[in-house]
Amino acid sequence: RMHNIIQELRGNVRVFARIRPFLPDDGEQGNDSETPSVYHFGDEQLSVANLSNPSQRHKFAFDRVFAPSAGQEDVFAEVSELVQSALDGYNVCLFSYGQTGSGKTHTMQGAGTGVMRGLIPRCLEQIGLHKITEEKDGWEFSMEVSFLEIYNETLKDLLRINLSQECKHEIKVGTDGRRTVTDLTVKVVDPNDRAAVDAILALAAKRRATGSTDMNATSSRSHSVFTLNITAMHVERNQVVRGTLNLVDLAGSERLDRSNATGQRQKETVAINKSLSSLVDVFTAIGQKSTHIPFRNSKLTYLLQPALSGDGKTCMIVNLSPTEASVPETLCSLRFASKVN
Ligand code: ADP
Ligand code: MG
Repeated sequence: RMHNIIQELRGNVRVFARIRPFLPDDGEQGNDSETPSVYHFGDEQLSVANLSNPSQRHKFAFDRVFAPSAGQEDVFAEVSELVQSALDGYNVCLFSYGQTGSGKTHTMQGAGTGVMRGLIPRCLEQIGLHKITEEKDGWEFSMEVSFLEIYNETLKDLLRINLSQECKHEIKVGTDGRRTVTDLTVKVVDPNDRAAVDAILALAAKRRATGSTDMNATSSRSHSVFTLNITAMHVERNQVVRGTLNLVDLAGSERLDRSNATGQRQKETVAINKSLSSLVDVFTAIGQKSTHIPFRNSKLTYLLQPALSGDGKTCMIVNLSPTEASVPETLCSLRFASKVN
């Protein structure tokens, strides 16, 4: 059944799974980190042991499964086609989904400027190379970056200079359906200016970050949305192409009962679940070809509506921990992914 739905949606929504390697802090080790015992996987399927009935396995299908040994460049290779779509004028969104500690930020942002750098810098590099090539053919580019965080259904500007005053940001819809956010810092950027790009990413990371694997950290309870608006103009041919690339590091998907939240924490968790569950609802409605897709139910889905609807293109990367202790959480993530399908 799931495979049929994937087929129907192929082209618009792609779903990948990425299993991270074991880490020293995991407190357990796979007998072989290439094939963690709990998981079996091929290029397009993944199964998880049923811990209460070892003769059974839970099976899931994906467009692509990345083994723990897969590098950042392997994940990037699978999404670069979507980056090209953004350059061709589509509205594209890549999501990083999963429980806290499963590798969402590693996938999206990565670490440093070497082989561990993630999708955001790699996408910008691809766009920079494209720009150089197309400029020789008479195209002129204008590229604008913004970086925001959605926390408790409130928007925060990660690139703001003045930290003392926090603006109230609203999502506005243009006549063409494009979203703009009021009072949001928008930086004009040349993707080939590495220093400028790195400075923007470092600033956003600093504003966002506290300990990445701390279940209590704000960063694990907020969604971050990196947006690049690309305008390409060819004066002689009288052509303008506008595309958008959104790269979203979602809040940790861990369940409410696990964080044992009360009071303010409880309210936050509900708000996070609201955005995540709204995202599930949107994908479910799209999958069912429903005439009503509930984009308005959360800030996240409303902001990203152009990428999630029409001829927008979406890719969901479901990040998974390899540990046996994470199996219940992993199954939740995989069930979410099957709803996306
Ligand atoms: P999340 O953002 O989902 O909470 P992180 O991206 O912070 O998780 O990952 C948790 C830890 O695991 C970090 O120390 C990160 O560097 C490491 N990690 C995640 N994925 C990988 C990977 N594919 N290879 C190496 N280390 C990884
Ligand atoms: Mg993170």
